Amino acid sequence: MSSSETPAAAWTCPFCPLACDHVGVRVGGAAEGLQLVGGPCGRASAMLAGFGSAVPMPLAEVDGREVTVDDAIGVAAQRLGASRQPLFGGLGTDVAGIRALYPLACATGAICDAAPGEALMHGLRALQDRGQFTTTLAEVRTRADVIVFVGGLPLPTAPLIRERMGIGDPQVAQRHVVLLGPKPGDDAVLSTWAGAGVSVEVLPLHGDLFDTVSLLDALVAGAPR
Ligand code: SF4
Repeated sequence: MSSSETPAAAWTCPFCPLACDHVGVRVGGAAEGLQLVGGPCGRASAMLAGFGSAVPMPLAEVDGREVTVDDAIGVAAQRLGASRQPLFGGLGTDVAGIRALYPLACATGAICDAAPGEALMHGLRALQDRGQFTTTLAEVRTRADVIVFVGGLPLPTAPLIRERMGIGDPQVAQRHVVLLGPKPGDDAVLSTWAGAGVSVEVLPLHGDLFDTVSLLDALVAGAPR
């Protein structure tokens, strides 16, 4: 490491829903891009390569007029203090940025509206209509003996899903991984997951995805819990 490089700091990857914190970022010389360290992930590496190591000077404006960042923060504080319900829009930041924004939103009663809000609404609408049951990756890693992927493996959006679920790790002596409705190429990938303590199975859809899940729901309804 050259004297101009900054060592990797604690970091939570923002590039997919898995939010990995076992990896980090190496900040190199001014002409270098950011690099992923601590483990491989093609998606994170590709995304980081789009950012240079040199930190750009932050720009700030108030009412269309360029001001210093300190002045902008002062004006923002005044306006937030005078507001009854502010709106924070866009939210183009990373995990650390959102973590910093959250207590500010709570303190000011702000509504947060992320730029890709349409995508977020699908999950919120389902939660509103039917409720939701969820788990954590830690729970899956330490307890799940049957894991069912519905509609394909989510590797394009969550590349380290196998590792984060602990598939192949010894915490659970025997796991069965079922893929219901594979996408092209999924069978070949899943077959590489089979091994000591892991069995795999691929099942086609019965009708469309909705029909299949409804059928599965009916079949398990009478099963002992
Ligand atoms: S799987 Fe890759 S892209 Fe997703 S959070 Fe982990 S390191 Fe980042």
